Amino acid sequence: MSRHVQTDAERRKQISVRGIADVGNVSEIKQSFNRHLHYTLVKDRNVATTRDYFFALANTVRDHLVSRWIRTQQNYYEKDPKRVYYLSLEYYIGRQLTNTMINIDVQAACDEALYQLGLDIEELEEMEEDAGLGNGGLGRLAACFLDSMATLGIAGYGYGLRYEYGIFAQKIENCEQLEEPDDWLRFGNPWEKPRPEYLIPVNFYGRIEDSPTGPKWVDAMTVLAMPYDSPVPGYQNNVVNTMRLWSAKSPVNFDLKFFNNGEYIQAVIDRNVAENITRVLYPNDNVFEGRELRLKQEYLMVSATLQDIIRRYKTRKFGSTEPSRTSFDAFSDKVAIQLNDTHPALAIPELMRILMDVEGLSWDTAWEITTKTFAYTNHTVLPEALERWSCGLIQHVLPRHMQIIYEINAKHLKEISEKYPGNVDKLRVLSLIEEGDDKKVNMANLAVVGSHSVNGVAAIHSEIIKKSVFKDFYELTPEKFQNKTNGITPRRWLVMCNPGLSDLISDKIGIEWIVHLDQLQKLKPFATNVNFIRAVQTVKSENKMRLAEIIEKQFNIKINVASMFDIQVKRIHEYKRQLLNCLHIITLYNRIKRDPNVKIVPRTIMIGGKAAPGYHMAKQIIRLINKVAEVINNDPVVGDRLKVVFLENYRVSFAEKIIPAADLSEQISTAGTEASGTGNMKFMLNGALTIGTLDGANVEMMEEMGKENIFIFGMDEHEVLALHQKGYNAWDYYNSNAELRTVIDQINNGFFSPNQPDLFKDVVNVLLNHDRFLVFADYEAYIQCQEKVSELYMNPQEWTRKCILNIASSGKFSSDRTIAEYAREIWGVEPSWEKLPAPHEPKELVENGKAN
Ligand SMILES: *Cc1c(COP(=O)(O)O)cnc(C)c1O
Repeated sequence: MSRHVQTDAERRKQISVRGIADVGNVSEIKQSFNRHLHYTLVKDRNVATTRDYFFALANTVRDHLVSRWIRTQQNYYEKDPKRVYYLSLEYYIGRQLTNTMINIDVQAACDEALYQLGLDIEELEEMEEDAGLGNGGLGRLAACFLDSMATLGIAGYGYGLRYEYGIFAQKIENCEQLEEPDDWLRFGNPWEKPRPEYLIPVNFYGRIEDSPTGPKWVDAMTVLAMPYDSPVPGYQNNVVNTMRLWSAKSPVNFDLKFFNNGEYIQAVIDRNVAENITRVLYPNDNVFEGRELRLKQEYLMVSATLQDIIRRYKTRKFGSTEPSRTSFDAFSDKVAIQLNDTHPALAIPELMRILMDVEGLSWDTAWEITTKTFAYTNHTVLPEALERWSCGLIQHVLPRHMQIIYEINAKHLKEISEKYPGNVDKLRVLSLIEEGDDKKVNMANLAVVGSHSVNGVAAIHSEIIKKSVFKDFYELTPEKFQNKTNGITPRRWLVMCNPGLSDLISDKIGIEWIVHLDQLQKLKPFATNVNFIRAVQTVKSENKMRLAEIIEKQFNIKINVASMFDIQVKRIHEYKRQLLNCLHIITLYNRIKRDPNVKIVPRTIMIGGKAAPGYHMAKQIIRLINKVAEVINNDPVVGDRLKVVFLENYRVSFAEKIIPAADLSEQISTAGTEASGTGNMKFMLNGALTIGTLDGANVEMMEEMGKENIFIFGMDEHEVLALHQKGYNAWDYYNSNAELRTVIDQINNGFFSPNQPDLFKDVVNVLLNHDRFLVFADYEAYIQCQEKVSELYMNPQEWTRKCILNIASSGKFSSDRTIAEYAREIWGVEPSWEKLPAPHEPKELVENGKAN
C-alpha cells in the first residue's frame, strides 16, 4: 500500500489552517486509534489499509461523541422541551468525519495524533463514502437543518429512510452518463447505531371491516421498520441530536406452516420483497413518478416515525401541570412536525388513523391535534414535480388512509360550499381529489389542509405560490402562508470546506461569525484593504490549484489556473438552463475561431450534475456539454483561453472542493422556476461572484450585497409570465440574432458530433419549438452580461473587492437564521443556544436521567 506521508512544510501549513492541539487529547486519541485498529479492525500496521485507518479514526471520534449524545438525550428527557420532528425522504449528508471533528473540537488533536503516527489525515478523510441519501437541494437542506437545530440547542430529530443504495454514481463514457449503484454501506457505516430492539410494525394492503368499535384494518401485510440512529453534533456546544433512519425488515413469523421444503425456501427468499422497500433512493429531482414502491417508502417512513413520536410523547416525564400522561391534550404543545415537501404528507392521514383507530379519539379532536402539529414546506411550482397519487393505488396499498382522505375532503368541501355557495370551480380547485379517468389525490392540497403553516423557501417563491398553485387556498386561509428563505450551514460550507478563507476571516473579525454569520458584515471595511485583498486572492488561487490538480488527475485535463473558473454545478434540469450556459460556451468558441487573435479573458467553464436516469433531455444535455468540450479542448487555435470541463459525479464531497475554487457562480434558471437554490449561497459565502437571473434566493442575495455586486441579467418573473401569455416564439430570436443562429445550426448539423450529425436534433427541436424555459429569450442578455463579467475580471482588485462584499453580505443565508425563524414562527420554540456541560464536567440536571 502506498501512503502519502506529510512533509514538515505540509504539516506546518495544516496547523496554520486547522489549529493547534491540546497535548493531553493527542495521546488519548493515539491510544484510542491504536486500540480500534487492533480490536475493532483486527489489523496491525503491517497489513492495515488506508481505509482501515479511516475506520480506526472514525471510531475514535465516534467514542468522543457518545457521552455527549447520551447526555443530550437525558437532558431532553429531564427538561421535556417541545420536540421538533423534521420528516424528509432525503438527507444528503455527505461525509461526516471532518464535520464531526470540527463540531466537537477534536480536529487539531486528531491532526497531531495522526501526524505523530506517521499518517496523513487528509488522505484518510478521502476514504469516507458520502452518505448520498438525497438528490440535490431538498436533501442537502434537510442535512443543513439538522446541523443548525443541534447548534441552536433545539430538541430536533431528523426522521427518514436508510436507503441501502443512495444516489447513483455517475460515470461519463463516450460523453454519456452511465449510472452505477451506490453501494455506500459495503464497508460498514461507523456513524450509525442499529436498534434492532425497537422494531416498529407497519401495515400494507388488506381491507377495512366495520366493527362496533370503529373501522378495523384486516388481512394486512406487516413489514417491520428498524431504526438506525446517527449522531448530529452541534457546533462546539456539546449537544448531539439524533437522526433516526428506518430500514425495512421482514417479520420472521410471516407464515409458519409449509407443506414442503420448496415452500419454506421460497418463503425465506420472499423476505426480500418486504426488505426491498428501503433498498434504493428514487433518483428523481423535481419530478414525480407515481410508483407503488415509492408510495410504500413514503408510508413506511411516515408510519414508523409517527408511532415513534407518539411512544416518546407517552413515555415523557410527567409534568405536574399537564392533564394526564396518556391524554393527547398537550400533544401539539409538545410536538411539532415539519414536512419537507409533500413526500411525507401521508403523515396527516396516518396521525388521524392512529389518534382515532388506535387511541380512540373523535374525528374532531384528532383533526384539531393534527392541524396544530403539522407544518408543510413547499419546494417547487413545477407541475411535473407535484405529487398526485392515483386513488386506486392508495386504495390498494393503504385502504384505511384512502377512507380518511375522502373524509378529510368531504368535511373540507362542505366548508368551501358554505363559504362559496354554488361555486363548483372553487370546489374543483380546492378539492384534495382530482376527478378524471384515473382519480388522483393532490398531495399538496392535502398538506395545506392538514397543516397550520405552509411556507415557501425564498421570498419570491413564497409570493408565487400564493398567486399560483395555492391561490385559492391563500384566499381561504391567508394566515397559514409564510416565507422561510433557505440557508446553508457555515460549518460545512466554509469552516470545513475552505479552511484558508475561514482562517483569514477569523484573523480579521474573530470566530463568532461561525455561529452568528451576520458578523461577516465586519469584513466590509476590509474590502478596500490591499493586504486583505491580496490575502483573499492568494487563498482563492490555492483553492483553484487544488481543484486543478484533482481535475488533471481524475479527468486528465490540464487547466489554466489563471483563467476564470466559471462554474455551474447542480442537478441537470431544463429549468436550470445548463443549455443557456452551453450556448455561451459555443459563442465564445466561435468568436475565437472567427478571429484567432481576439483578446478574450481566459475561462475554464465547468458544468457538473446528475441527470435522472429516465430524463432523456437532461441526459442529452450532458452529452452535448461533453461533445462541445471534446471539440473545444482539442482545438489548437483555442489554446488555454477556453476549456470546458464536465465535472463527473457531482455530489456533496465534490462540491466541497469545487465551490471554494470558483470565481463565477452560474445561477441562470428561468425566473420563477427555481424555488430558492442553495448552491447560489454556498458560492457567495466562498467568495465567488454570481451571474444570475432574478429567481429564487438570488433576489435576496442581491438585496443583501447591492445590485452593483452581482451580475443580474434577463427577464424577471413578470416578464416571463407576460412572454408566456403573449406566446413565446423561439424562431424570432433565432432569426434576429446571427451569433445565436450560428450556434444552433452547428448543434443541429453535427458540428460537435460529426460521426452522428443527427445526435442533437431533438435538443434543437425542443429549443426552437417546445421550450418551456425560454432559453433563446435570455440569450442576448446573458451574452452581454458575460462580457461585463469578463471586463471586471480584468481588474483583479475590483473583482476581489466585490468578492469580499459578497462574503460580508452572506450572513442572512446561514441555515441558523432559517432554523431560528422556523423555530419562532412555526414550531413555537425558542432557540436556547445553550451549551451543555462537556463530558468531563459535572452532570447537574441530568442526574438519574433516562434517555429516550
Ligand atoms: C447544494 C447542493 C445542491 C443544490 O444546488 P442548487 O444549485 O441549489 O440546485 C445540489 N447538490 C449538491 C451536492 C449540493 O451540495
